[in-house]
Amino acid sequence: MARIASRIAELTGEGALAVFTRAKELERAGRSIIHLELGEPDFHPAAPVVKAVQEAVATGRDRYVSTRGIPPLREAIAEYLRRTRRVKAATENVIVAPGCKMALAMAMMALIEPGDEVLYPDPGFPIYPSFTRGLGARAVPFGLVEKNAFQPDLDEIRKKITPRTTTLIFNSPNNPTGTVFSGEALREIAELAKKHDLWVVADEIYARILFGGEYESIWRLPGMAERTVIIDGFSKSFAMTGWRLGYAVAPKHVIDAMDLVVLNTFTCTAEFTQVAAIEALNDSTRAVPAMVGEYRRRRDLFVQGLNCVPGFRCQTPGGAFYAWVNIEDTGLAAEEMQKLLLEEVGVAGIAGAAFGANGKNYLRFSLVSAASLLQEALERIRHVSVKWSAAVAR
Ligand code: PLP
Repeated sequence: MARIASRIAELTGEGALAVFTRAKELERAGRSIIHLELGEPDFHPAAPVVKAVQEAVATGRDRYVSTRGIPPLREAIAEYLRRTRRVKAATENVIVAPGCKMALAMAMMALIEPGDEVLYPDPGFPIYPSFTRGLGARAVPFGLVEKNAFQPDLDEIRKKITPRTTTLIFNSPNNPTGTVFSGEALREIAELAKKHDLWVVADEIYARILFGGEYESIWRLPGMAERTVIIDGFSKSFAMTGWRLGYAVAPKHVIDAMDLVVLNTFTCTAEFTQVAAIEALNDSTRAVPAMVGEYRRRRDLFVQGLNCVPGFRCQTPGGAFYAWVNIEDTGLAAEEMQKLLLEEVGVAGIAGAAFGANGKNYLRFSLVSAASLLQEALERIRHVSVKWSAAVAR
């Protein structure tokens, strides 16, 4: 039989979808499920954004457009990054893609050669190592562990850099830990990148979902604008997951390389979504700060509640919308806990190994359900915790 290309065997999926499928099955069988497994906001785009897309379709903004994205959106993205992150990038540094994942894939295709070594966070977004391997490169994890408050250990990174290392990928705030990389960590990563001539791919998709302080982008550090690719988009910050809209910000010659990937694959991102995205960036109804305020309330309620469950331990995340819970003291494996919570009390979370080996004793819950549902989830977890509380007391 004709074969499938070997690179496909290097790719892996995302754990959340398997749990989601089972949760839906239980729901169809009449069970009440609280969905905390997917990283999908329960908000929808603000009304002016919805109106803008309707108008764009009605007025025929449905043509092939520039491979890099429509110029007004690219300009608006450059302005937005200056305004919200003090990132000084020009329009020529911006390329639009159908989703952050596609922007990430294009950047990785443009930068990574077979045989390269690519550093990535563990736990982290599972696509980083998967797509690295798919490109014939070696994925090398660096740990984000609890004893370091999930901050990267720069000595570990230093030791893992070899003459073959070309790229370091990180995500701040990080999915799944919610860690906002400290200024010191960013400075040290930047120094290493300059010393070893590395590309840095900074996945800033959660940059707006920050619970304190101002976002620090590695792009702004001296000498970094020429070796950084920022990945961001509309899925999380503007609750537009299904719109498939993301972008990358990079040196012009990297954008040119990524542009050729666009030309050879999807040609362009849909015009009408791009027109409406400008409205999202303007955020005339201040929907983003309101949404972030709600995530903060949910975080406070849920993290505090989880820390009262016997054997559960959860640090307060600085950003994103996840709770990353250590369940080691319960004596149960994370996969067993995932199953118990879903099958017995209908609370869907994900066993942490889906995010890398360091996730072994953790569960990730997304804070994408209303506070009342999170409260209910806590009650259900407390109720079932009698099953392991005796083990914790020992
Ligand atoms: N990067 C990170 C860290 C994510 O968590 C996600 C989605 O969960 C993505 C990228 C993908 O974003 P998009 O849905 O815009 O492709």
